[in-house]
Amino acid sequence: MGYARYEIWRNGEKIEAGYDVPTTCEQDGCDEKIDRGLAHLCGTTPGGDEHGCGSYYCGHHHYMSGDETVGDLCGPCIATYRRGRADQNA
Ligand SMILES: [Zn+2]
Ligand SMILES: [Zn+2]
Repeated sequence: MGYARYEIWRNGEKIEAGYDVPTTCEQDGCDEKIDRGLAHLCGTTPGGDEHGCGSYYCGHHHYMSGDETVGDLCGPCIATYRRGRADQNA
């Protein structure tokens, strides 16, 4: 995987993404410097997918789902994901 810089659509807005694009963690109140690479993405698809919102987070605000098809998720998304899994197992 190696896309340093590319453009994506997110919520109707075109943004630059890729590990060569510097940004800060999108968690409110966090100004940790990160990049818009897949390592920081919520979900697995830039722009958002079934489980991820497509925002970018630092390691403190990014949680492992344990499923590589789901990827790592932000707080709200992992909570929704875990709730969905619990419902399935109930
Ligand atoms: Zn998210
Ligand atoms: Zn953060």
